[in-house]
Amino acid sequence: MNAENFGSSERLVAAAYVRQGAQGRRGHELLLRALLEQGKCPEDGWDESTIELFLHELAIMDSNNFLGNCGVGEREGRVASGLVARRHYRLIHGIGRSGDISAVQPKAAGSSLLNKLTNSVVLDIIKLAGVRTVTNCFVVPMATGMSLTLCFLTLRHKRPKAKYIIWPRIDQKSCFKSMITAGFEPVVIENVLEGDELRTNIEAVEAKIKALGAENILCVHSTTSCFAPRVPDRLEELAVICAKYDIPHIVNNAYGVQSSKCMHLIQQGARVGRIDAFVQSLDKNFMVPVGGAIIAGFDASFIQEISKMYPGRASASPSLDVLITLLSLGASGYKQLLKERKEMFSYLSSGLKKLADTHNERLLDTPHNPISLAMSLKNLDENNDVAVTQLGSMLFTRQVSGARVVPCGSVQTVNNYTFKGFMSHSNDYPCAYLNAASAIGIKKQDVDVFLKRLDKCLKTSRKEGNKEKTVNEICDSNTGTEQLAK
Ligand SMILES: *Cc1c(COP(=O)(O)O)cnc(C)c1O
Repeated sequence: MNAENFGSSERLVAAAYVRQGAQGRRGHELLLRALLEQGKCPEDGWDESTIELFLHELAIMDSNNFLGNCGVGEREGRVASGLVARRHYRLIHGIGRSGDISAVQPKAAGSSLLNKLTNSVVLDIIKLAGVRTVTNCFVVPMATGMSLTLCFLTLRHKRPKAKYIIWPRIDQKSCFKSMITAGFEPVVIENVLEGDELRTNIEAVEAKIKALGAENILCVHSTTSCFAPRVPDRLEELAVICAKYDIPHIVNNAYGVQSSKCMHLIQQGARVGRIDAFVQSLDKNFMVPVGGAIIAGFDASFIQEISKMYPGRASASPSLDVLITLLSLGASGYKQLLKERKEMFSYLSSGLKKLADTHNERLLDTPHNPISLAMSLKNLDENNDVAVTQLGSMLFTRQVSGARVVPCGSVQTVNNYTFKGFMSHSNDYPCAYLNAASAIGIKKQDVDVFLKRLDKCLKTSRKEGNKEKTVNEICDSNTGTEQLAK
């Protein structure tokens, strides 16, 4: 309702009441105005009614919702199912134009506004989470692996001779495939064992750069968030090397936004050396459905170049989901989730340590990993490897998801590259172990129930040796790797 309509309403309802109604509406509109003017995540979360009002206002700015529209083009935002239209708040045009995912779409002012606002709000959150000097970012409706591919493909044009990517090893298939899909040859740098931790071998990285020649290297592809006992890469040292040899540096920050330590590493790396872009998952950091990632960086024009590499238009759903989420949580709600995650990490860590002690195992000492923990499975392992994988299936059938058991020395070939000790980030990690993570949204109850069920499973598997034969095949929810337990 605008002023004119409020005026007309006064013919039907007492003017005083209408005024009050108008005031009520104004409350919502002041929030919208602050968002449009500042482009920042509101400190306090919005009520659902404000968010819905806002989304409806955006939708009626798009041509598919114009009352008098007559479409004679091949892309008119027609939707056959009302259910589908409502699922998308009638924002049907998506984002971008054929040439650029960040470009404004003339047929869809509302969707374009949504896209710009989302990128701006997300940028604000990245700053709040610790990368204060980030200058540009955009949401891309592809998961992390494909978004990394897009970064590599953008670099290809700047470094036509390059065919290698230097990659400190992390046993996660999508980040490996992101390089293969882009047409590059990953140069795997094995990690070094320091205490229980697996850390970046800086000397080996530099030696490889010298051996291959800087101009033949597309970039260094490093990782922050990862499964223990690997820890985030030494970003500062890598960033310094990249600056020294004038080699681009792309950081896989898959679930690192939720950790102030990972974000601090990126901030520091950019301060002392070179980081060209860092990529993070929407679902892993913002509790939205799988489907999007954020590509961010310190040189706004490079980030824009990446967005221009995206061929064609794109789904607005990931942007819409993350915008709704951040408006509902507000900056304070997101900060609260980060705080709770950190507390749950300590809680999980001490609980797992106690449990390990009672089972004659050890919580591996991995102080540089802020999210994932690992507990040794020496006693099971000494019996046999089958017992270790079996523990994995036992947990899975008892509805523990995300816990990941890693036997010693499993070999796996990914795109013709054979990894010894696959899943463990190392050719020969000294023991088998079990991972658990404290990720955003985890509740105390998740930890309590997990520890109770793990305790039971460990007791059972010691008693029964390898008698449990219920599950033949499980699929680890984190890695997508299939483990065969016979
Ligand atoms: C999740 C994740 C990825 C990317 O996986 P997508 O399914 O493409 O989002 C890459 N590396 C690590 C370490 C991850 O955790």
